[in-house]
Formats: sequence, C-alpha cells, structure tokens
Amino acid sequence: MNAKTVVIRLSDGGTATAAEPDWCRGEHDVVDALADVLHDGQEIVARIHLRGRTFEALQASLTQQPFASDPAARRPYVSALIDGVWVRLDAGEVLEVAAALEAHAGRLRALGGELAGLGRT
Ligand SMILES: [Zn+2]
Repeated sequence: MNAKTVVIRLSDGGTATAAEPDWCRGEHDVVDALADVLHDGQEIVARIHLRGRTFEALQASLTQQPFASDPAARRPYVSALIDGVWVRLDAGEVLEVAAALEAHAGRLRALGGELAGLGRT
C-alpha cells in the first residue's frame, strides 16, 4: 500500500493532497484544476550520437493523470513520443513498440550492410 502523498498547488492559491506513486519524480507544477495533475516517472530516451551531435528519439515514461475525466488516464500508463505525437500505451502496446524497434534495428543493420557492400563505409 502506498501511503506517500504530495501537496498539489492550484493556480487559485488553494492546495490539494493527492496520493503520490513511488515511481513519480515528484515534480508538480501549479495547476489550474486537479484534472491537470500529472504524475511523471523518469524519462527514458534513445540517444543517437552522430558527428558531434546528439539526437533523441522515442522519449517515454510512466505517467498518470489521477483526476482526469478519462478513466483510462487515471491509471498508470506509458507516455511515449512517437512520430512527433505523445501516445498513451498500455503494457502490451509498449511490447509492440519494442518489437517494432527490434525489427527496425535489423532492417537498419541490413541497410548499413548494403551500403558497405557498395563500397561506402
Ligand atoms: Zn507525482
């Protein structure tokens, strides 16, 4: 049982106390309404270092909106940035994304091999 709580500051000067999941980083901005409360876990991201630059892809974290009007958002989910859109994923969908990335990694390796075969390294 999680007994941890967090005090949420509201833009009207009020406060509210909410249950705080263990995985939440505990960074809560002032919100206009309780429906805006967002628990966010540690973000993970694929970092690709190329030619002195770092590119980031597929940011993802555990997320929960405990007071959202959408009941599905009140339960924890994974929020992931895919193709420029933040997508809400359940556990099975996270595995589908991971499988697609693994398949794509294989295709990328094959493409690199094809390029090397053309004499470009
Ligand atoms: Zn939180």
